[in-house]
Amino acid sequence: MLSAEEGRAIAEDQDARDALGPIRDSFLFPSGPGGVPVVYLTGNSLGLQPRTARARVEEVLDDWAGRGVEGHVQGTSPWLPYHRFLTAPTARLVGAQPDEVVVMNTLTVNLHLLMVSFYRPASARTRILYEGSAFPSDRYALASQVRFHGLDPAEALVPLVPRSGEHVLRPEDVLDAIAREGERLALVLIGNVNYLTGQAFDVGAITRAGHAVGAMVGFDLAHGAGNLVFHLHDDGPDFAVWCSYKYLNGGPGALGGVFVHSRHRDGRGLARFEGWWGHDEASRFEMGPRFEGMPGAEGWQLSNPPILQMAALRASMELFDAVGMTALRRKSERLTGLMDQLVRGMPGVEVITPADPAQRGAQLSLRITRDARGLLQRLAAAGVLCDFRAPDIIRAAPAPFYSRFADVVRFAEVLRGHVTGK
Ligand SMILES: *Cc1c(COP(=O)(O)O)cnc(C)c1O
Repeated sequence: MLSAEEGRAIAEDQDARDALGPIRDSFLFPSGPGGVPVVYLTGNSLGLQPRTARARVEEVLDDWAGRGVEGHVQGTSPWLPYHRFLTAPTARLVGAQPDEVVVMNTLTVNLHLLMVSFYRPASARTRILYEGSAFPSDRYALASQVRFHGLDPAEALVPLVPRSGEHVLRPEDVLDAIAREGERLALVLIGNVNYLTGQAFDVGAITRAGHAVGAMVGFDLAHGAGNLVFHLHDDGPDFAVWCSYKYLNGGPGALGGVFVHSRHRDGRGLARFEGWWGHDEASRFEMGPRFEGMPGAEGWQLSNPPILQMAALRASMELFDAVGMTALRRKSERLTGLMDQLVRGMPGVEVITPADPAQRGAQLSLRITRDARGLLQRLAAAGVLCDFRAPDIIRAAPAPFYSRFADVVRFAEVLRGHVTGK
């Protein structure tokens, strides 16, 4: 464990040499006590607003005001092809081909839509392997899909749980469970990163193990998108879904993202719910009687998309493209690494997130032995925003876009004050 002084010295040096440091000014910060910008460690919950988001949204409002319906095809950013502003940056973000991704709906909606296609229980192959500590919405979605097929969640849902006395899953236990379920497994669905523990999983290894037993493999990247570097095309899961309001800074209720691997490009042989926006765009407005799907992920679209939301997300994706996920992740590893060095081993604090950088993203989850709620208030009073998950977990996620090494040190100082009762 680093001392507070060592931490301060490292942070000063790292901040001074941080090439991404100035990008912080591209974001708007809430004010804390005394009107000072807060230390924002909740970008895993709602990312900060890019300064350029307002202009992007106003551009759409202005076109709507000044052009009415003509805004679909006129103006600097016509709405009909507006989603294209997001396609290439989104593909780069998750390591996909452009026609493997689409931005649409919201996360839980997309999870359901993709499960319509990729959870097709048949004869003895009915089960879904998932994390026991998955985000509640994911668990509700899984259970209701199982019931939708007339099956019993108690039988069809197979939760992965850590070994007794441990907080996170051992990677080999995940692979063993897939092999053990074997031909009973219809779908493997893993949250990457886990929202509660901050644990990240090896997408390629899990995908290979799932495919080896003939299962479909999907990932919920709610806490992964904009946090980790992904190679979805090469790693080969069948689908992935994510939201854009966490690390992606797309704003409250932002549109979700979807990946469908190119092996399912023509959608043939898959059950799918259809709508006019999934229809081949070349003939979409002929309004013909038969559905002819767009090739790739866009074939899963149902409705014409909310352009105002897309505009806010576009502002953020422009920043991601300017910086690149590789550079962000490099800084993120160092930020979270410094936090880990400052807090792991502190009395009264148990870091449940894995110490191995390959098994985590930006977030550290800390179990606080005494008065975790009190700590949260103490942090807020010191201008540090974190969040709390009952009964005793504090989550802190320094986002590399706008967090400084000094912020991590500040967090650790308040934590130390709390646990030492000073
Ligand atoms: C944030 C989060 C959600 C939220 O779902 P919405 O449909 O966007 O409201 C769902 N699942 C996971 C794993 C999450 O982290």
